Amino acid sequence: MRVYNFSPGPSCLPLEVLEKAAAEMTDANGSGQSVMEMSHRSKDFKPIIEKTENLFRELMNIPDNYKILFLQGGASLQFAMVPLNLAASETPCEKKKAAYIDTGIWSDKAIKEGVKYAAVEVRASSKDKAYSYIPKAPAAQPGDVYYHITLNNTIVGTKWDTIPDTGSVPLVSDISSSILSEPLDVSKFGILYAGAQKNLGPAGTTIVIIREDLIGKAPDWTPIMLRYDTHASEGSMYNTPPCYGIYMIGLVLEWIKNLGGVEAIAKINREKAGLFYDYLDSSKMFYSPVEKQFRSLMNIPFIPRENDEAKKAELEARFVKEAAAAGLINLAGHRLVGGMRASIYNAMPIDGVKALIDFMKKFEG
Ligand SMILES: *Cc1c(COP(=O)(O)O)cnc(C)c1O
Repeated sequence: MRVYNFSPGPSCLPLEVLEKAAAEMTDANGSGQSVMEMSHRSKDFKPIIEKTENLFRELMNIPDNYKILFLQGGASLQFAMVPLNLAASETPCEKKKAAYIDTGIWSDKAIKEGVKYAAVEVRASSKDKAYSYIPKAPAAQPGDVYYHITLNNTIVGTKWDTIPDTGSVPLVSDISSSILSEPLDVSKFGILYAGAQKNLGPAGTTIVIIREDLIGKAPDWTPIMLRYDTHASEGSMYNTPPCYGIYMIGLVLEWIKNLGGVEAIAKINREKAGLFYDYLDSSKMFYSPVEKQFRSLMNIPFIPRENDEAKKAELEARFVKEAAAAGLINLAGHRLVGGMRASIYNAMPIDGVKALIDFMKKFEG
């Protein structure tokens, strides 16, 4: 029996996609091989990576002056690659200035890695209220080489409701947990990056969408694998790319296209999240810790209304255990936030959300 998997990542994939991959497992496109066995430079693999790239361009409406790179190392490696490529100098101690907004644990990690290669300035933070809102973004300053935000904050469950205007300073965003969940104007950004394992496919592939004028700025001492120009000039084939991941992402993108594209999936996502927030806001046992304006469509933490710490811990443990027994798995919250969290990415069917709400109503008694 398939469960409803509310994991923040790796997370559930559409059943249709898994079934298609299974059917093609030993013989993809009549090649007599699995995609896992193909040479990345073969005539059999070429149409697979081209299809995935073209679907990204079409679904996200990516302008022609942007490159799409299929890399490895996760979003976490981009925390280093962005400052290395955009802010580092030939003399490693001469770092250029970069603005960061701190909206959660992932922003904080990007900042901690960023300071190694950039003169990082944290211009705003929502840490004062446990990251339960998105702070006002101050204007970019002269000399900023980029401006970094985390568009959707996976752990705390917030998202930017408007994209800050940074003028001529390139806006860079981690979109790991919201890519393709709603329409996004790519032309407002210099770089977008995402680990695949939240909303796109299996772990192991990282998507980087980068405006061409930002490629080729890394100092000479940058390791060749960490340079955007290395990957951009070789069509993500400088070395062996994550071939199977690229294939799976292509199937997921095809699934989104067949549903009607990003507008259609966004409508479903708003409906799913709306149902869940409406329930939470009326619940006597649980609440959402996030300010309404900034609530994520993808990751929804919920906390028991219980002040006694021991009772709260007991309730949380019982909730997670009973939910799992009912086929609703991975609902434990992040250890830094506490409570529970339901991640309802694109692939989570609305019936999964309804099943969770029904379970919670019964749990409340
Ligand atoms: C999951 C996540 C990451 C970490 O991704 P990896 O691919 O594991 O490095 C970074 N940022 C955000 C917003 C995430 O959700």
